Amino acid sequence: MEKRGWDVLILGGGPGGSTLAASLARRGRRALVLERERFPRFHIGESLLPRSREVFEELGVDEELDRRFLRKYGARFLCGATGRESTYRFAESFEPRFHHAYQVERAEFDQVLLEHARKLGAEVREEWEAKDVLFDGSRAVGVRAKNLREPSEVVELFAPIVVDATGRDTLLASRTRRKASITRLDKTALFSHYRGAFRQSGQDEGNIQIVIFEHGWFWFIPFRGDVTSVGVVVSSSWMQQKQKGEPLEAFYDRTFARSPLAAELIAGAERLRPVSALADFSYRVDQLAGDGWLFVGDAGGFLDPLFSTGAHLAIKGGALAAEAIDQALRAGDVSRASFVAYEANVRYAVDLFLGVVQSFYAGQFRETLFEPNQRPTIRKIITSMLSGDVFHVDRRPPWASFLRDHYPAELPTFA
Ligand SMILES: Cc1cc2nc3c(=O)[nH]c(=O)nc-3n(C[C@H](O)[C@H](O)[C@H](O)COP(=O)(O)OP(=O)(O)OC[C@H]3O[C@@H](n4cnc5c(N)ncnc54)[C@H](O)[C@@H]3O)c2cc1C
Repeated sequence: MEKRGWDVLILGGGPGGSTLAASLARRGRRALVLERERFPRFHIGESLLPRSREVFEELGVDEELDRRFLRKYGARFLCGATGRESTYRFAESFEPRFHHAYQVERAEFDQVLLEHARKLGAEVREEWEAKDVLFDGSRAVGVRAKNLREPSEVVELFAPIVVDATGRDTLLASRTRRKASITRLDKTALFSHYRGAFRQSGQDEGNIQIVIFEHGWFWFIPFRGDVTSVGVVVSSSWMQQKQKGEPLEAFYDRTFARSPLAAELIAGAERLRPVSALADFSYRVDQLAGDGWLFVGDAGGFLDPLFSTGAHLAIKGGALAAEAIDQALRAGDVSRASFVAYEANVRYAVDLFLGVVQSFYAGQFRETLFEPNQRPTIRKIITSMLSGDVFHVDRRPPWASFLRDHYPAELPTFA
């Protein structure tokens, strides 16, 4: 049993966990991060949103990220069926100060953030796996963890607050069966990296390109240099076309063959990694916090990556959780009541994105995205959403309310 006077135990050192740890350390709170892997390690989720830079600036890491990664000034959408295209540039959002984001190889990006948390004073243990959250009644009090370098070493660690930031592993939500799939987002992603794929030039070089076709959409995320992340998100009905025993690479190529536009963007390019697949990736949990515990990032839900929202929700969620935790510790009340505002803020942001994503698949938002005579205000609204300006539960500006009213999220029910 270890009681080292930590304020917070953070399970997982991805962008959610490391941002939380860094933000807590800046507030003088003692945080311990347990991360199962040794960084650097591959991770999907490579296109960031501009509004994460608010957090990077606060934490003093934005300049380092700017030195290392390719700037992303906008998002270009192309529709194979109609030949229409539309580019949204973040400088045209309601807050043009955040006019770029970054395209990042996650192995390097996640390591930079975790190292930064360490530099600011958080304790980080890599190759430590959280096995279980320990409860005293309904209140989380600690964690049982294993040192993977000394597998016989399983210890119990205690702190007033435990944060599950284990990403899609959803350590706590899986154990407590608090997870539900999101209606009509039963998609599969196939992805790899390529050398020499097409990219735009000048300031547009770093744009994400999204190509829509009959079975879903492709992403093209250029990194600094000549490597591009290329993936496709497809419907479950298209996945059923995969033949038994057909290698994933062959099915991936066959998917590209259905979209001449997407195929053209990788013509002559070299595939650098085996194709990976992830199925049914959108889910929600019934509660984002309880007595002595919180979820941050994917551990508390995941939304189809159409608008590259996952890392932003984890990063901004980490920063907001730090604020709520700091206040709760100061007030000496770590019960669920202290985290209600955190939960409401994250839910507001997620549901805004969710409604628009669901409407995209239903067809309505797709029309608006490519509208030839789009009103300038609509363009600004879409651009602001795409830049990640979505955490507005307190202010509810008219443009955010417009999105929520026009594209209401359809939520799963929990038993
Ligand atoms: C196909 C696909 C494409 C995507 N594209 C994008 C994109 O372009 N842009 C974007 O922003 N997002 C994208 N995402 C989402 C993005 O990957 C995630 O939202 C983001 O990584 C969430 O960060 P996190 O810190 O919550 O979780 P993670 O980044 O998953 O980090 C969790 C960490 O916890 C560790 N861990 C897990 N279990 C344990 C344990 N028991 N003990 C200790 N440590 C543990 C893991 O090793 C990991 O390092 C995409 C997702 C998918 C599926």
